[in-house]
Amino acid sequence: MPPWWRHAARKVVSEDNKMNTGAIRERLAHRRDEIMSIINKVDKHVTHREQALDRDSGERALELENLDALFAIDRETRIELRQINDAIERIDVGHYGFCSECGAAIGAERLAALPYIDTCIVCAQRAETKSS
Ligand SMILES: [Zn+2]
Repeated sequence: MPPWWRHAARKVVSEDNKMNTGAIRERLAHRRDEIMSIINKVDKHVTHREQALDRDSGERALELENLDALFAIDRETRIELRQINDAIERIDVGHYGFCSECGAAIGAERLAALPYIDTCIVCAQRAETKSS
């Protein structure tokens, strides 16, 4: 393949991709903002609660329980944040919508339901059978 042709082909692919992924990128960026504000709120809560821990032990136990729940939320949102950042990065480099395992197109329906998924249904099912 002559280099000029490869360049032209890549240009067409990336322009096409930009059109298809623009709305998804916006959606992901919006979700990222939501998650950032959740993480900020949780962080504030945690800091605030740690300062207020010197009360009676019953209340303290309750606060520690809440703290566990907050940490769980924090952990989950951080995982989601990483997935969203990865998806946005894949959009920006033009790899979005292709399976990270086998390279096949993931499919618009699957992407619409799970915008930051990076495996096709076949690989996802294979991974599920393997782990169960
Ligand atoms: Zn695959």
